[in-house]
Amino acid sequence: MDPLNAKGLIEIRSQLLKGKIPKECLGCYKREQQGLDSARKLALRNYSHQYEEKLSKTSPNGKSEDSSLEFIDLSLGNKCNSYCITCHPYYSTQIAKWTQQQKINPTLEKIEEFTKNKIFNLPCQQTKSFYFQGGEPLLSPKHEGILEKLLPNAKETSLSYNTNLTVLPSKVLSLWKEFKNIQVWISIDGIGEMQEYLRPPIKWERLTRNLALIRQLPNVEINFTSVVHALNLLSLNDIFTFAEKNSTQNKAPQLIFLETPSLLKPDSLSKGSIEEAKKEWEGSRHNLTPSVSRDSIDKFFTKIKGAKTLSPYLLVFIRKLEKDYQLIRPDKVSKLLK
Ligand code: SF4
Repeated sequence: MDPLNAKGLIEIRSQLLKGKIPKECLGCYKREQQGLDSARKLALRNYSHQYEEKLSKTSPNGKSEDSSLEFIDLSLGNKCNSYCITCHPYYSTQIAKWTQQQKINPTLEKIEEFTKNKIFNLPCQQTKSFYFQGGEPLLSPKHEGILEKLLPNAKETSLSYNTNLTVLPSKVLSLWKEFKNIQVWISIDGIGEMQEYLRPPIKWERLTRNLALIRQLPNVEINFTSVVHALNLLSLNDIFTFAEKNSTQNKAPQLIFLETPSLLKPDSLSKGSIEEAKKEWEGSRHNLTPSVSRDSIDKFFTKIKGAKTLSPYLLVFIRKLEKDYQLIRPDKVSKLLK
């Protein structure tokens, strides 16, 4: 199979050439409407200088005669050690096990392991940039082997990761030293007990210990990503403060405003709880560095109204999770669930 001319890619190119927005691009446009950065904008920043050249190699029906891949985004499967409250069996084997036990989703959905398709048959010799995600990519049995194969060009190769950073094999740490640079995006939805509650069974101490280890590598850039949802509205200031202090460029976290499961959207909370969260944010936001993320939280609070009363379904869902995973509800969550 020619990966650059897979059916879906030809279709996307053909729509773009007709000036249409493919449905695959809608997620980025939505983020941009929320005032956030997007993969689309990032690609424009990094690759727009190649536009004319790529266009000259693309036929009007969307077929490409290009044979190089600048960037490869690798989903290494859904193997994960966590069952984050906002995640899905598609991304986490832990959640897949839970949904099977509940008979909610008897079909075990799995990401087709891209690496099974022999990644190194892809024209990646000139590839300068790899992005790894999972599941938890640092747990993937394929990951270290891929890095080893990339070693001959490591000094010209950039890696980036989306990780919960609760695992950090020493072999990976030493392989990373060989690469040009590593961009690490660490998922945090709360600090300390909040992170442990929202992303169980993550141990905060383990995350901070691994954070200290990667900080020692001069070629690692540390960034944070946070999902904003009903249960962490009182933790936003903590997350921003932590991210500004611990990211290598003192940056605010990159935000994802949760869309699914819709039960966990802030509008499941009561108006009173939303007001309280908004007041808390407005009282502390001035301590944070101005950023696109900070502005988008301001905008977000003008849009969410909350329900007359807390959604009883949310409460049932939370109680079930707490019981099954033996989670102790932090005060910052209790305050919102009223
Ligand atoms: S660490 Fe990532 S993949 Fe694993 S459960 Fe959490 S959000 Fe999902």
